[in-house]
Amino acid sequence: MNVLVVGGAGYIGSHMVKYLGNQGCSVTVLDNLSSGHRDAVLCGELLVGDLADCDFLDQVFEKQSFDVVMHFASSIMVGESVVKPSLYYRNNVTHTQNLLDAMVKYDVQHFIFSSTAAIFGEPEYTPIDELHPKCPMNPYGRSKWMVEQILEDYDRAYGLKSICLRYFNAAGADPECELGERHDPETHLIPLVLQAASGKRDAITVFGRDYDTEDGTCIRDYIHVNDLCSAHWLAIQSLKSRGESQRFNLGNGNGFSVQQLIDVCREVTGKDIQVIDGERREGDPAALVADASRAQLELGWTPKFDDLSAIVSHAWAWESKDCGHVG
Ligand code: UDP
Repeated sequence: MNVLVVGGAGYIGSHMVKYLGNQGCSVTVLDNLSSGHRDAVLCGELLVGDLADCDFLDQVFEKQSFDVVMHFASSIMVGESVVKPSLYYRNNVTHTQNLLDAMVKYDVQHFIFSSTAAIFGEPEYTPIDELHPKCPMNPYGRSKWMVEQILEDYDRAYGLKSICLRYFNAAGADPECELGERHDPETHLIPLVLQAASGKRDAITVFGRDYDTEDGTCIRDYIHVNDLCSAHWLAIQSLKSRGESQRFNLGNGNGFSVQQLIDVCREVTGKDIQVIDGERREGDPAALVADASRAQLELGWTPKFDDLSAIVSHAWAWESKDCGHVG
């Protein structure tokens, strides 16, 4: 099977490329390396180029045919999206449309899209299922929701079949420690807490202790990056066998507060992690927990790493490798 992985040099994309390689797929990675890393592409061919460049896309699709396209490339920082909406709509919507138009032009019919829990906005109920109202609270979430809607229209008009996977909080690292999270700047909670544990940072700032949750800190559903990869793999099988467009929420269904997460990190690392209490971060809902039963029922997906300690252990092994000391 020939798979085009757009954004395959980034955090989740690079884990997917390794996963596909292990399944015996022929993988082509398209990445502009704006935030991804060349050495994170462990198999397949890396084509460096940008979705803004339609001539480049023509060359990619003319050269070979693909059974499925996976799209991980996007701008992902909620706060940045509020101050730079133009960048977010251009990267996440306009450039995605270039990719979709190339797929239509070259008759590639299967697409898997990295969507997000941010399309739901402030939850009206939890756990959040696929039917929950979509009221994104920031340009990042809106850009992803726009693409989901574009995909509905492209299915109706052009027969392009898509599966949108709405990640809750992607976390962890390759269990073999070849890959992990390498964002610059890093804004995600787990790597930041672990950098405070390794000494790379002095402390972790908790964004708000006055939420309406048991300990006052925000609750999130952390899902291992390899479990996201297995869901993508099952999504490919579903596109091949059923040929239907589908949407799935992907999480473990367990919520952990920021404070609980820090406590697990202290346990796993054995380090005394310094904590600073900060203000709320704009646009953060109090609790985001997935109801992933549709993915379990329709894709046969079962997350393997449903234990937060295992997720943190893999992230810590990666952080320790990066710092050159044993975790
Ligand atoms: N968070 C925090 N301090 C940080 C980074 C994040 O307290 O330095 C909190 C953030 O407010 C949210 C949770 O950790 O409640 C997860 O944030 P992250 O940015 O990792 O993912 P998000 O939920 O925004 O996708």
